[in-house]
Amino acid sequence: NFEIADGVDHQVAMVMDLNKCIGCQTCTVACKTLWTEREGTEYMYWNNVETRPGKGYPRRWEEKGGGWVSDEHTERTPGEIPASEDYGEAWEFDHEGILKEGEDKKLAPEGGKPEWGPNWDEDQGAGEHPNSYYFYLPRICNHCTHPSCVEACPRQAVYKREEDGVVLVDQDRCRGYRYCVEGCPYKKIYYNAVSKNSEKCVFCYPRIEGEGPDEEIHPPACADQCVTQLRLVGYLDDTDGPIYKLVEQYEVALPLHPEYQTTPNVYYIPPFAPPQHSEGGETVDVDRIPRSYLEQLFGERVHDALDTIEQERQKVERGGYSELMEILQDTNPAEQYRLDRT
Ligand code: SF4
Ligand code: SF4
Repeated sequence: NFEIADGVDHQVAMVMDLNKCIGCQTCTVACKTLWTEREGTEYMYWNNVETRPGKGYPRRWEEKGGGWVSDEHTERTPGEIPASEDYGEAWEFDHEGILKEGEDKKLAPEGGKPEWGPNWDEDQGAGEHPNSYYFYLPRICNHCTHPSCVEACPRQAVYKREEDGVVLVDQDRCRGYRYCVEGCPYKKIYYNAVSKNSEKCVFCYPRIEGEGPDEEIHPPACADQCVTQLRLVGYLDDTDGPIYKLVEQYEVALPLHPEYQTTPNVYYIPPFAPPQHSEGGETVDVDRIPRSYLEQLFGERVHDALDTIEQERQKVERGGYSELMEILQDTNPAEQYRLDRT
């Protein structure tokens, strides 16, 4: 019962297992070094990993509107452009002076004390000791089936590719109006003040097309470099693949903020957490990460998803077989990245 956008042959998708993310930011660096080291892109993180609960990047992006009013996709929710302070500036460090010229000072951002930046609330989380909690949420553009960024652009510069549903910005057509930035509820389109165009995650399309020196197909750099290999990449309509099974068959991989109605194609296995402890140190049968918080992020289906995973986990504990657990534990690259469409 999955939905592919009109005019799209196949839809690329990614599943990220939040139980495996250690917040190392290797994915962020892999993306940054590949795509956003050009002038005007310094502040951009097409892939970012934010600590939850937290304000995210850009700061409080969930309060800035965008997306669709309903699943009829006829009326867009008004959105706003985050202020530059919400993204935070790229900080400069005097590596040269300290490391090479022996200057006697601490390595700290130049030009005054910063007051905000991506990853500002790293590892802060919420709750009271001994029941405090946090988890990491890696985010890229969701290459949505109903992308409100596409609809927001009056010049049809933002478009969804026919062959795989990747959402791109035609740099020749773009005039930098930033309606797309307002229109995306995930704030995953960025304005480049130097080129005066908008830019976004391209799902590493040259890599998935095999355009590298070895002419082999490679997954997006964020997935390839992930130290815990928590990202599955493939096509949603590949009904033999693990993505289809996790999203459609077992319904344990969920989109972030489904209420924005853009139908994302990045899905998350929601995080489990240890149970709470009483003041005396005994285990209490209450989830450490409140289900209500997870419901805010992933919608009400999160309860069934977590219950399904727990039932399957117990099945294995009793000596039984679970295809779902096998998929979640597998790091076989042939299954993890199913990108060959020939
Ligand atoms: Fe567009 Fe935002 Fe969806 Fe990406 S996440 S396709 S930028 S609406
Ligand atoms: Fe998480 Fe993987 Fe990124 Fe590290 S590389 S932050 S484990 S998604």
